[in-house]
Amino acid sequence: MSRLPEDFIAAEHRLGAHNYKPLDVILTRGEGIWLWDVEENRYLDCLSAYSAVNQGHCHPKILKAMVDQASRLTLTSRAFRNDQLAYFYEEIAALTGSHKVLPMNSGAEAVESAIKAVRKWGYEVKGVPQNKAEIIVCSDNFHGRTMGIVGFSTDPVARTGFGPFAPGFKVVPFGDFEAFAEAINENTVAFLVEPIQGEAGVLIPPAGYFRRVRELCTEKDITLILDEIQTGLGRTGKILAEEHEEIEADVTLVGKALSGGFYPVSAVLSNTEVLGVLNPGEHGSTFGGNPLACAVARAALKVLVEEGMIENAEEQGAYFMKGLEEIRSNAVREVRGRGLMLAVELHPEAGGARRYCEALKNLGILAKDTHEDTIRIAPPLVIKRDEVDWALERFDKVLTRAAA
Ligand SMILES: *Cc1c(COP(=O)(O)O)cnc(C)c1O
Repeated sequence: MSRLPEDFIAAEHRLGAHNYKPLDVILTRGEGIWLWDVEENRYLDCLSAYSAVNQGHCHPKILKAMVDQASRLTLTSRAFRNDQLAYFYEEIAALTGSHKVLPMNSGAEAVESAIKAVRKWGYEVKGVPQNKAEIIVCSDNFHGRTMGIVGFSTDPVARTGFGPFAPGFKVVPFGDFEAFAEAINENTVAFLVEPIQGEAGVLIPPAGYFRRVRELCTEKDITLILDEIQTGLGRTGKILAEEHEEIEADVTLVGKALSGGFYPVSAVLSNTEVLGVLNPGEHGSTFGGNPLACAVARAALKVLVEEGMIENAEEQGAYFMKGLEEIRSNAVREVRGRGLMLAVELHPEAGGARRYCEALKNLGILAKDTHEDTIRIAPPLVIKRDEVDWALERFDKVLTRAAA
């Protein structure tokens, strides 16, 4: 006899730390863009696990790579070499135009690793006095949940109660070039920023912002670190979102879709000497670069390209956005997005995005509210046009009905 949804929820509530407030849907199976709950209701996934499942749920080729590798060799630690790591390096470097790669696991670990490397680069290469390195970050940033990272978050929920925090970070408003320029001093080693702020509600900076930032970073010898953990690997219709800005970061962070949702795999990609400052023993991870992770990531990158998912994200994203813009609703303040990274921001009077997400769930769509008034829409990149139409019908219903 299977458990009822209420029983799952009760057990989670009793035993689990309450650090999430999920929609009450108990998922048991996924395929492509679709998810099924324990009562066999089907949902279109409009979150894609925060863009970790860009390739669609349980992609058969990634699954096969994972099972094949898992039955051969999973983990050796980096104390020894394995026969997958070199291929992973070659393939991700070729795809992203990078020269050095540091494999890690979670996204937050990639961010932490970049911070460590860039500080050391600051002391050894740029000549910043010991322990004086400064990193500029943006307000409303989201780079993960570790101690180092929440210390420079501007979200009170993310940081309150967790101090004391590490020094060495300066916060400037996102998208404000003048503020960035003013924050620079001789100890500035890096600017860490998301190309599009996802968690903040899919915020896109003004045109030309990143071009000017790139130029100033070059002029002042500042490492531009783009956190593409959410925007990268096809989500915005390009392999990396930096392409929209026609710039190249010095350090790029990827994670999430790097495994297609099978396994935590992240990486620091660098095209300067930044990663070159790390010597044996100075940084590491038991699981980073393990053969299972490498095999999964190789397959995840391969299907993104081979199956045209990046182009599809561009095409279906534009179509989806146009459809959302055509919905006539008093509740909608703005529709934003790039590729299949979309958001509908509601007027504050609409009563919050959460209840719209509940209503969407009842019509077979799983989407996630962010920052009270924004519905984020990010389906797997394998979505087809008729499926976008199916989704639009439901968004139209919910946005016009719930607003009336
Ligand atoms: C999700 C995310 C992270 C953190 O990744 P985890 O795997 O959850 O540690 C960092 N930066 C951005 C932009 C993200 O979206």
